[in-house]
Amino acid sequence: MSPSKVSSITWDSFHNTIDGEARGGKSKHYGVNPSTGEKLWPVPVGTQQDVDDAVKSAEKAFESWSQTSLEKRKETLQKFADHFMSYADELTELLCQETGKPRQFAEFEVKACYAFFQHHISLDIPEERFEDDEKILTTRYTPLGVVGAICPWNFPIILSLGKVMPALLTGNSIIVKPSPFTPYTTLKVVELAQEVLPKGLVQAIGGDDKLGPMFTQHPGIAKISFTGSIATGKKIMAACASTLKRVTLELGGNDASIVLPDVDVKKVAPELVLGAFQNSGQVCVATKRIYIHEDIYDEMLKEMVAFVKTIKTGAPDSGALLGPIQNEMQYEKVKSFFEDTKKAGYKFAVGEPEQKSEKGFFIQPTIIDNPPNDSKIITEEPFGPIVPTQPWSDEEEVIKRANNTNAGLGACVWGKDVERAERIGKRLQAGSVFINSWEKASPQAFFSGHKESGIGGEFGNDGYKSYCNVHVMHTYKQK
Ligand code: NAD
Repeated sequence: MSPSKVSSITWDSFHNTIDGEARGGKSKHYGVNPSTGEKLWPVPVGTQQDVDDAVKSAEKAFESWSQTSLEKRKETLQKFADHFMSYADELTELLCQETGKPRQFAEFEVKACYAFFQHHISLDIPEERFEDDEKILTTRYTPLGVVGAICPWNFPIILSLGKVMPALLTGNSIIVKPSPFTPYTTLKVVELAQEVLPKGLVQAIGGDDKLGPMFTQHPGIAKISFTGSIATGKKIMAACASTLKRVTLELGGNDASIVLPDVDVKKVAPELVLGAFQNSGQVCVATKRIYIHEDIYDEMLKEMVAFVKTIKTGAPDSGALLGPIQNEMQYEKVKSFFEDTKKAGYKFAVGEPEQKSEKGFFIQPTIIDNPPNDSKIITEEPFGPIVPTQPWSDEEEVIKRANNTNAGLGACVWGKDVERAERIGKRLQAGSVFINSWEKASPQAFFSGHKESGIGGEFGNDGYKSYCNVHVMHTYKQK
């Protein structure tokens, strides 16, 4: 047991955290273990009173935290990071239960949080200075106030903490709302944060569909940082307009992966598959369309199919590479892509048109061979382990096809000719383009979506600025 670990944390009861205190509620909701379909623990449903109380407490915490030096804030973040890591095993276990993801990937998510903490702690928030004969202009980045974080279910810990870290670094307080499908790890992380953070600085309220709008409409919340679907993102932006809240929207994607004819087929085939099926395809920047040069199309597809056939799907400790779909609603949504493909008569290169999961919400990885451009599987984000491939021959044309989407989150280009790959990559309308790799998040990289994939962005050297006001002092010299 690490020295910072305390015994008061239990792992089978969950509550909201408001003003440094555990708070229950009259009504409860439940997550479901997606590997088994069994109900997990009860969680209180947050109310308007909870949100009002949390905002009041966050405003109070903001008064002193915003005046705390950057150095001290970083020290506190480091304490939080160490405390968090001392519970890595317990959080990994909980993450396996609430998401069903294979243990090695749950462990990876927890450890990746530490890397994100370290990145934020390494950042400076410099003042910018301009001087001429007459005046000095000093530009500072000052905190906004109370931030509301609205989070999805696919990476519940890292996508919540990914908002908490820059908010705290820059001097804000924050209230986190986990997805109703995955409340457990977030509520626990915020609970254990209370042991190292001033009260009211980080709070968590879980609940039902009514809770998000209570955040977006609250006049005491200065900014919403949202990660989730494009449809919800639009509602959030509209709701935030009434109080002119700042918004950061990290939304859905429809990432294209373009494969040049010179690639090493055997080496790249499994990488393409992993890019599409990482976390069972439940990744905003998973590859969602694969464009393979016609000279190698058949060979590449054959290799991909062979690799897919080696992939095991199963519960967290079954040695599987892929886990289940995280919730039933999403499971039904992913299955609708199978039904549509079957109905339209498109070809399943691997995978069955009928997906049956004896228990839990498992779907076998599936590749659809050359469906038309206007098919559902090409135009919409399935967010599950099903991906289409299409051949291409003309560079200009495939760039157009890749860009022919309302989304613009990520994209990949694969080729031994890196110059050509980069030339194509520069023309892809996406916030993050990967050359000879599938999409991998890195705390040092700014993450953002073009087009309907988002507004603003996070991480990298500048992501923290979205948690700040720009404050410019014009000082005129006294002669
Ligand atoms: P979702 O939009 O259904 O829900 C996300 C969150 O919004 C949940 O906490 C939900 O309770 C809340 N919410 C729902 N309606 C709301 C409203 N009207 N007002 C305020 N809050 C509301 O998304 P999801 O199904 O949880 O996540 C999957 C989607 O998220 C996919 O489209 C995926 O691509 C996207 N995503 C994007 C990123 C990114 O960084 N760009 C990362 C992960 C997931």
